[in-house]
Amino acid sequence: FCSSTTPITATLFPGDGIGPEIAESVKKVFTTAGVPINWEEHYVSTEIDPRTQSFLTWESLESVRRNKVGLKGPMATPIGKGHRSLNLTLRKELNLYANVRPCYSLPGYKTRYDDVNLITIRENTEGEYSGLEHQVVRGVVESLKIITRQASLRVAEYAFHYAKTHGRERVSAIHKANIMQKTDGLFLKCCREVAEKYPEITYEEVVIDNCCMMLVKNPALFDVLVMPNLYGDIISDLCAGLVGGLGLTPSCNIGEDGVALAEAVHGSAPDIAGKNLANPTALLLSGVMMLRHLKMNEQAEQIHSAIINTIAEGKYRTADLGGSSTTTDFTKAIYTMYDEMS
Ligand code: ATP
Ligand code: MG
Repeated sequence: FCSSTTPITATLFPGDGIGPEIAESVKKVFTTAGVPINWEEHYVSTEIDPRTQSFLTWESLESVRRNKVGLKGPMATPIGKGHRSLNLTLRKELNLYANVRPCYSLPGYKTRYDDVNLITIRENTEGEYSGLEHQVVRGVVESLKIITRQASLRVAEYAFHYAKTHGRERVSAIHKANIMQKTDGLFLKCCREVAEKYPEITYEEVVIDNCCMMLVKNPALFDVLVMPNLYGDIISDLCAGLVGGLGLTPSCNIGEDGVALAEAVHGSAPDIAGKNLANPTALLLSGVMMLRHLKMNEQAEQIHSAIINTIAEGKYRTADLGGSSTTTDFTKAIYTMYDEMS
């Protein structure tokens, strides 16, 4: 929606734990690459904002709503009563209805498979995460799994649109409709309806248990996977594990009104925070997803190649990938690689 030289304002949540260190890495690489982005930084507050009932301030949410694009580091929800979880607040307040997680083998970083190239798309607003749990009588509790036609159509539409615009050939809907006949049944019905509008995309339905087996045996069988909330939570982590783990996997949350909030999959890693040990790759690749969303494709591809080439070269790697580089040395290797390439 803009030419790649007009500066864009994007919200940046460095987050907690290793967040500020890896956010610094993104800022550094983007600056070296001359990416025309002005970061509007917002931190998680130390006090609850009564307007949001959360440690996220109203101003920070407004910033994402206004800019419609942002990058988020990991956030650790402070323990205590009377406030909402940070991630739940973001999802609800910004209507982030789909979580998109690409998983592809990184050349040069050896895992069990070298041909993984799939996208998981997770419904992010309902299902088992509706927060409707109660005790029926002593010793018996109930949790309500909510599936609506509106949210199912919305995420299915996003998945097919994504497949079409990203040159993907197949969408697999993951379900357990043989048991959850009403809920997963409705989810599948919505996927089928949308599939009819995309005759050029192959549509299939895969039962979740079989999907898990196929993923660990031959992940190359899959292309785009779309699924309800809880299945998406589990399958997307499984897929991240296939390609090398938490330090590497990016994601992007898609909201209504075109909002996109990219974020690393991992948590705040308190065990290594402040030690200059974190792997910034996941947040950097999330930043690349953000650039693609902004149609800054050239910069996105160049930064992506610099990251991939640095890891493939193997001279500079962080400890989680078996290397001994610090966050800052690895970051420097990436922007040096970028300069050499251009
Ligand atoms: P949170 O409560 O914030 O989710 P967590 O304790 O669940 O945190 P993660 O932060 O997700 O855990 O991390 C799990 C493990 O993976 C930790 O040992 C952490 O050090 C490691 N880890 C996570 N992210 C990275 C990263 N970017 N670089 C290196 N190691 C990481
Ligand atoms: Mg965690």
